[in-house]
Amino acid sequence: MSVQTSLLLHSFRGRLALCFGGLSLLVLLSVGLYFGHMATQQLGQAAREKVHSAAQAAADLLGANLRERELEIALLSMAPHFTRGDLKNPELLESLQRRKLLRREFAWLGVADVEGQVLQASDGLLAGVSVAQRPWFMAAMKGVYVGDLHEAKLLAKLLPQQADGEPPRFIDFAAPIRDRQGRLVGVVGAHAHWNWVTETVQSTLAQRQMGGEAEILIVDKSGNVLYPRALAGNAQLPKGVPEGAASSVARWNDGIEYLSSEVPVSAGTSSDLGWRIVVRQSIDLALAPAHELRRQLLALGLAAALLATLVAIWLARSISRPIEQLATAARRVQQRSDAPRYPAAGGLQEIDQLSEAMRSMTDSLLSHERELEALNQTLEQQVQQRTEALAAANAELERLATRDALTGLANRRSFDERLLACFQTARRTGRGFALLLLDADHFKRVNDQHGHTVGDQVLQQLGQLLKASIRSIDLAARYGGEEFAVLLPETAGLDEAAAVADKIRAAVALADFPAVGRMTISVGVASWHAADTDPLRLVQRADKGLYAAKGAGRNQVMVEKATT
Ligand code: GH3
Ligand code: MG
Ligand code: MG
Repeated sequence: MSVQTSLLLHSFRGRLALCFGGLSLLVLLSVGLYFGHMATQQLGQAAREKVHSAAQAAADLLGANLRERELEIALLSMAPHFTRGDLKNPELLESLQRRKLLRREFAWLGVADVEGQVLQASDGLLAGVSVAQRPWFMAAMKGVYVGDLHEAKLLAKLLPQQADGEPPRFIDFAAPIRDRQGRLVGVVGAHAHWNWVTETVQSTLAQRQMGGEAEILIVDKSGNVLYPRALAGNAQLPKGVPEGAASSVARWNDGIEYLSSEVPVSAGTSSDLGWRIVVRQSIDLALAPAHELRRQLLALGLAAALLATLVAIWLARSISRPIEQLATAARRVQQRSDAPRYPAAGGLQEIDQLSEAMRSMTDSLLSHERELEALNQTLEQQVQQRTEALAAANAELERLATRDALTGLANRRSFDERLLACFQTARRTGRGFALLLLDADHFKRVNDQHGHTVGDQVLQQLGQLLKASIRSIDLAARYGGEEFAVLLPETAGLDEAAAVADKIRAAVALADFPAVGRMTISVGVASWHAADTDPLRLVQRADKGLYAAKGAGRNQVMVEKATT
């Protein structure tokens, strides 16, 4: 499934447009088809009725005209100058001539005696000629006659040529002439132009404005098409056309389907012609308005469906746009990017409410978040402060644990640890170190003479002197009371250590102690020996040296060598 299709099916906009468009298409098409069907039925029915009524009208008109002409000839035969029996009377010819003038459909009017010889005729045509063998003459000897269509036989050469070049054709009207005693004296006959007949029926089509779309046919009793000439011959009428049916649809010989109606010409004349009028119209032409209407309804339905779809798209967009804006705003809030933009108020009420709810929710969320952030910062600062205070306290504890409170030098514990470390390093690497033990001379006197506080001050000054006299890698410690110890790492020789000891001793001896004056110290020196099994061995030797120094009169440095 493509991205577009997926969007169409899954987006609100797409679904609404599809639903609306599809539904309206369905509804409008079904309504269009239904009404189209109804209209087609009605228009079809109307077309059938139109064809039938045209045929009926043509048949009625032709029937009336034929009857009228027949009546005219019959009345003529009964006119006084005819019944007098003198058929050669010029009055009679005048009467014939007048008739021909008034009734242009008559091509020829004439009277013949009982032998069949034409006595008088219009324009003198056929005068003296025998018509004894002509059907009209023979029939009229018995009664009034209306004859079937025939081509002009005797008159063909005498009458002027027709405009269409066709040989002239006629239908005949004839009536017997009887004298006042009822004896048959002759026959009056008339040839009417066939054109008069065809124009009569054709005029009904013209009256109904059907001339262009429908055709009218005249069929004789044997089924021969008399008119139009192009369809002459009995093979033209389809077998499917039921006689007398109001109208029917059938395929004719030309392969075209026609809607047709057939109506008998009931002229009411003495001899029944048995003609029928057929009006036919191609079914495509007959149903063209119905097809056009259906096409228009279909187009209208499609256009309306398209319009409905467009309206649906517009509607869906107007609903989905603010929702998409809300989604974008929510994403911005989530990513904390720019300030979220909410859809402008004044749209749909529900969307406005949703937007307002989201806006206030976001505001309270963000303000909570800011409060939390501030709280967090305060907490972090407090933790930092506490950590620093703890570190300071730890450092103080460390100092207290390893330093002597009075002098600030390393305390005894610290000294012991360092001594052990130096001892282990020496044993591991063979690099030796030295140890000095120092003791204030006659310190008891200081206390006694100047008090304990001055004694403390002297001890502090002694500590500072010691510190100032040694290297940074050396360690000076208060060993206890007025006794001090100095560790000299990397000092292998006793001489070197003794020199350091003497330097200290001299510094003390030269220093001025306020309130006390001069002070001296005694120093015992010892250095590591490979044979030492315990650091205590060094302390013992230094102590021995110190004891010796005291014994030698104090303010002395005494070295105590290791005895192997
Ligand atoms: P010597 O030369 O033999 O060492 O004589 P001395 O007087 O120093 O004798 P000793 O070492 O026995 O006496 C040490 C005195 O130091 C005893 C004690 O009162 C005093 N002393 C010990 N610790 C302190 C202290 O922290 N402050 C003061 N003011 N005096 C102390
Ligand atoms: Mg002492
Ligand atoms: Mg002492």
